[in-house]
Amino acid sequence: MTNVIYPTTNLKAVEQLVLERGEGVYVFDNQGKQYLEGLAGLWCTSLGYGNQELIDTVSEQLGKLSYSHMFGGKSHQPGIDLADKLAGMVPMDNAKVFFGNSGSDGNDTHIKMLRYYFNAIGKPEKRKIITRERAYHGVTVAAGSLTSLPANLAHFDAPLEALGILRTDHPHYFSGRQGNETEAEFVERITGNLETMIVREGPETIAAFIAEPITGASGVIVPPAGYYEKVQAILNKYDILFWADEVITGFGRTGNDFGCTTMNIEKPDMMTFAKQLSSAYYPISASLIRGDMYEAMIEPSAQVGVFGHGYTYSGHPVACATALKVLEIYERENLFERSAQMGDYLQTKLKQFADHPLVGEVRGRGMIGAVELVANKQTGKAFANGSVGAYAVQRCQEHGLIIRAVAGNSLAVCPPLIISEAQVDELIEKLGMAIDETLDF
Ligand code: PLP
Repeated sequence: MTNVIYPTTNLKAVEQLVLERGEGVYVFDNQGKQYLEGLAGLWCTSLGYGNQELIDTVSEQLGKLSYSHMFGGKSHQPGIDLADKLAGMVPMDNAKVFFGNSGSDGNDTHIKMLRYYFNAIGKPEKRKIITRERAYHGVTVAAGSLTSLPANLAHFDAPLEALGILRTDHPHYFSGRQGNETEAEFVERITGNLETMIVREGPETIAAFIAEPITGASGVIVPPAGYYEKVQAILNKYDILFWADEVITGFGRTGNDFGCTTMNIEKPDMMTFAKQLSSAYYPISASLIRGDMYEAMIEPSAQVGVFGHGYTYSGHPVACATALKVLEIYERENLFERSAQMGDYLQTKLKQFADHPLVGEVRGRGMIGAVELVANKQTGKAFANGSVGAYAVQRCQEHGLIIRAVAGNSLAVCPPLIISEAQVDELIEKLGMAIDETLDF
């Protein structure tokens, strides 16, 4: 046993895989064994490993200006250019960009911005935030309070009251439907619950609704058709902001530029990015707000003296230069379009598992998907714990495929966007062998 405390790990666990290097969509362990990275690391290495252009970008920027901060308006060209680039890409009006290091701190930033903004426009009572059951928005104290997964909330007195966190239904039809309810009835019921909660709490006390357009850690849930249209209509009716957490779904993952595009979410008021923003070649997050929200925040910031928030590495020049290059590569290589095409291929292949006796549901969109293993195929009954999924993941690893089991027993796949058709075939073959072997568990 080494001295590392492993994140999101049963602390009884010892090192179970020591990786040494990566190349394209593959990583290699310290014994030289090759693995296909079926989850793009943690849903982030979109351009795979060992991309020479990115290695050169990182090293050139390190040589030029290895560090600069952004406090007090100090700046640098990669940071200015990256904010311009992002503002030009997103479906938001005159977006302004705040840089951080991770999805969690990006979401924390947004919580503070919400307070700042509503105070600025004279609505300080608008402070509650609606999140959804099973949501994942990070693990810092504030973002961790928006997260709804039990393991992330256990032994942690989340300041739910102080942050005004409200929870509404998770939009998963397969596990959340009641009786013979149709998808449309399910949507009607859960959006009805949302509206009832808003009215009960008082719309004048609610600032925003946060959602991953398609979820990752909660099981790769694609909400039924019409869900977001209904949600947005309700939010508009009660003057509540839509906050899109695109930490996983941003930049081609779902077969479009953003998850909002894929899910017909119109003009979010805030968007959070991390992960694929830099293809994980350097840590960076971006918290975007509407231009008029930023304008409103200027005056109070002048009164207090500052907008009192910022990290040492906010807008790290190497991170910004790396992200700029990543966005250039996405565009040059048409990776969002490619992701739509290869995504169709991946989803078709995944659907083959739908008939398997262990599989309850296969779902996904573009280059992200999940195969949910269930105790009873007829009723969709879940297993009592996640040990079946963990076993399947272990079997995948034996076969040279790295994936993750999320939300219990959903086997999630989210390969680098550069994966080839033959490599998708390899992923499917290895996943299939592992699922078959899990029948004996
Ligand atoms: N938001 C979403 C949707 C995520 O999936 C994650 C991480 O997986 C986060 C936020 C937190 O990002 P980070 O782990 O970089 O803090």
